[in-house]
Amino acid sequence: MPIYEYRCNECGRRVTLFWRSFSEVEKTSPRCSFCGGEDLTRLVSRVAVARSEESRLDDLADPSSLAGLDEDDPKSMARWMRKMSREMGEDLGPEFDEVMDRLESGQSPEDIEESMPDLGGELGAEGEF
Ligand SMILES: [Zn+2]
Repeated sequence: MPIYEYRCNECGRRVTLFWRSFSEVEKTSPRCSFCGGEDLTRLVSRVAVARSEESRLDDLADPSSLAGLDEDDPKSMARWMRKMSREMGEDLGPEFDEVMDRLESGQSPEDIEESMPDLGGELGAEGEF
C-alpha cells in the first residue's frame, strides 16, 4: 500500500494518495482530491517517506527507519503507516484508522479492499472528493 504525495498544479495544494500497489500507481493517473485536477507533480519518488522540506521528517529519510517494515506483514505495515501519519501531522480520517485497525487485526489489504468498496484506490486526503 504505497503512499505518494503530490503537489496539485491547479489549486496548489498538497495531496496525499494511497495506492493498493506500486503497479497501480504506474497505471493510474493521480487526481487532486480537492479540485479534481489531473496536473499533479509527484513530490517523492517512492513511498511518502521523507524528502519533505519539513525537518521533522528528516529521521524518516534515514533508510534504516524502513528496516522494520515488512510489506508482506499487515501488522508491520499498519504500524509503519500510523507512524508516518503521525510524523506528517496529518489526520488521514476514519477510513485510514479503520484500515489500520483491520491490518493490525491480521486482515490482508485485499480483504479490506473487498469489504470497503468505497475506498477505491485512494483515500486519506483531507477535504471532499
Ligand atoms: Zn487541486
